[in-house]
Amino acid sequence: MVELKNVDVHYNDGLKGGIDALNDVNIRINDGEFVFIVGSSGAGKSTLLKLLTREIQPTKGRVFVNDYNLSKLKNRKLPYFRRSLGMIFQDFRLIPNLTVYENVAFVLRVIDKSKRYIRQRVPYVLNLVKLGDKAKCYPSQLSGGEQQRVAIARAFACDPQIIIADEPTGNIDPALSYEIVELLMDINECGTTVIMVTHDHEIVRHFGGRVINLKDGSVDYDDYMEGGR
Ligand code: ADP
Repeated sequence: MVELKNVDVHYNDGLKGGIDALNDVNIRINDGEFVFIVGSSGAGKSTLLKLLTREIQPTKGRVFVNDYNLSKLKNRKLPYFRRSLGMIFQDFRLIPNLTVYENVAFVLRVIDKSKRYIRQRVPYVLNLVKLGDKAKCYPSQLSGGEQQRVAIARAFACDPQIIIADEPTGNIDPALSYEIVELLMDINECGTTVIMVTHDHEIVRHFGGRVINLKDGSVDYDDYMEGGR
């Protein structure tokens, strides 16, 4: 669950008056939803994601994510909160000197999962993204689309409540971009909320569903578009 209530973000960047990156934003995303967030450069998309991960705090208003009131969250509880999120980035962010298997196993070790769980979970999530046969490869031996599928497997491995994908198709061959979104939709059908920021209007038109358009720091459009898989 995500809820932003009357949220403003003002950056003091040294310029006279600073910048209002978000103005009175109200958004509610329920568990299990799949939401596209669109908007031109400078509209406030990254600022919104930074609020959701609590990299920044709002200047005004309140942000709730997965039952955490982020204004009140103590820093020592931040790692537990972040475990409820899975992150996917445009540039994949895999560890180059670890194999595909180890890239996924690594995040599970960090959160103290047992060896037995890891031995079962890693092949399961790699099969889900159809990369079971690439477990021993290194990221450099994979295509961009395959690397992003590893990143999706890694995000899903920790069983997050929400997956936040920041331009996940931005570095991928357009023909393979659809596959990436299909995978995110498969994950969504397992019950995980997916929030995907994208510039790709073709993808949004194709898949449809809930689309939130930010414009100049405000919600310009929040509605359901036709489309489908
Ligand atoms: P988007 O991700 O949609 O391109 P951003 O959230 O990055 O938009 O930016 C929204 C506005 O806030 C822009 O005008 C941008 O220049 C400004 N901005 C973003 N981050 C900072 C920052 N750290 N300091 C000052 N201004 C910022």
